[in-house]
Amino acid sequence: MQQPYLKKIWWEIVISIIIFSILPLFVLGFFIYHQFSVSYSGKITDSLKTLAENRQGALDLFFEERVAQLTTLAGTQNLEKLKDEGYLNKVFNILQARSRSYMDLGVIDQDGAHLAYVGPYYNILKGVNYKNEDWFDGVMASGIYISDVFLGFRKVPHFIIAVLAREGSKVWILRATIDSDIIEKIVQAAQVGRSGDAFLVNRANILQTSPRFSGKLLEKPKAPDYSWTIGTNVEEVYFEGQNFLFGTAVLKNKRWVLVIKEDPAEQLSPLLHARDIAATIGFGGVVLIILGAVFTTRAMMRELQAMERKRAASEDMAVQSSKMAALGKMAAGIAHEINNPLAVIGEKAGWMKDLLKKEDLSVSKNFQEFADSVNRIEFHVNRAKKITHRLLSFGRRLEPVTEKVDVNLTLDEAIDFLENEARYRSIDIQTDFAEDLPVIQSDSGQLQQVFLNILNNAIDAIVKNGQIIIKTYFISKSNRVAIEIADYGPGIPKEVLDKIFDPFFTTKDVGRGTGLGLSISYSIIEKLGGRIMVASEVGQGTTFTIYLPAA
Ligand code: ADP
Repeated sequence: MQQPYLKKIWWEIVISIIIFSILPLFVLGFFIYHQFSVSYSGKITDSLKTLAENRQGALDLFFEERVAQLTTLAGTQNLEKLKDEGYLNKVFNILQARSRSYMDLGVIDQDGAHLAYVGPYYNILKGVNYKNEDWFDGVMASGIYISDVFLGFRKVPHFIIAVLAREGSKVWILRATIDSDIIEKIVQAAQVGRSGDAFLVNRANILQTSPRFSGKLLEKPKAPDYSWTIGTNVEEVYFEGQNFLFGTAVLKNKRWVLVIKEDPAEQLSPLLHARDIAATIGFGGVVLIILGAVFTTRAMMRELQAMERKRAASEDMAVQSSKMAALGKMAAGIAHEINNPLAVIGEKAGWMKDLLKKEDLSVSKNFQEFADSVNRIEFHVNRAKKITHRLLSFGRRLEPVTEKVDVNLTLDEAIDFLENEARYRSIDIQTDFAEDLPVIQSDSGQLQQVFLNILNNAIDAIVKNGQIIIKTYFISKSNRVAIEIADYGPGIPKEVLDKIFDPFFTTKDVGRGTGLGLSISYSIIEKLGGRIMVASEVGQGTTFTIYLPAA
């Protein structure tokens, strides 16, 4: 695209196509993704909340069951019976049969004395007085006490549940040690995915269960402090260089907080995957749109350029031919005016020649001078006649005509025009004309213009010292006359060869070439029903071949 304005139009079209097709794509994609991600994130938050509530319910149920069992036991059995360790052992076995989580069972009086005990630490615990223990005060005050988790002698995590029983004015305590294993299992069920975690913390933010990744039992968790949180919550928190979703729920029976931790990236991975696929498809679409825009507009611009070129060519041809027509008329007028005096001069010179023969002037001492002068007058009158004749025919040629044309003769006339120029540049014009070339129906004036254009180009290409060979022959098979004009000039490079018939294409200096010669010649030959071809080899020369219909 040479013309800058075409380039500008091209850019404008391409950019507007791209903007108007890509922008809605982006807006739509962004909107869909946003909506989708909001609802998807909402779903994740909801499901985390449900999970937290569900686990909290299971834990509370577990505590309620244990507490209910112990309070039922304490409320239905009297102290006298339970003080009997044989009986207590029987009761313990029944409890154990229902649930393996009971580790031991003890009966304590209101002064903290251990009245009866069943369990693995009989020797250590039997004589112990609990009066000064925290839990003792707790159960005395509120009737039910659930302890935090501790490891104890066997280093197995467990906790105690103690319930207060009243018998008249007396109170006593039923105390059981519960293995943490079941609450561990309930909490573990919330450790979802590859990186999900779940744990329980007490009021002091100490872990009551073993998390997967977030710390060790009975230590502080590697998580924000949720020990004082209220109700059930889900929040996204930036913690230790990463975003996490934390779901929390507070147990009803014990002031413990269940914390569930999830990696949103993992939870969102189906959404992110869908986003990546959509982005890839979108990117592919954008590339296709850009390529489509570029290619279609390129093709469009090429069409536009070709049309523009044709329009310019026909405009120029019209201007050129009207100029030539005016020039032709003028030339014909002048030639006509000069023809009359020339005819008179010629006639008079002939008369003088006759007189020189008749009169006895041969004796005159200037006879030879007279005779030479008359001959010279006749010669130059003839020359002048030839010129006026040519001018007249030039004027006539401009109107498109169909006449009988002797191609060889037309070529001779063209050569005549250029002979001086060729001689001056030491260029030898050789002809090899077929004698039997048929006379064709064509327009000799226009043909001559074509021959002159091609010969002029050949002379220009050779510059100095060279040869031009003009050949004509008849091709009977296709009934055509062929004219070959070959020069031994520098030849035409491949990349130039494609353009030489384009209007305004010239490699000549400004003022020397118009770039119209060959394009006009091309259209003339086409109009005359013929074809024009070129063959060229750099360093060897160029041959133009014109084929014209013979009939
Ligand atoms: P112009 O002669 O005004 O440049 P033309 O249309 O006649 O315009 O020719 C176009 C171009 O074709 C020339 O500028 C020249 O580069 C090339 N050309 C034509 N004929 C020949 C030739 N015989 N040898 C080398 N180049 C040629």
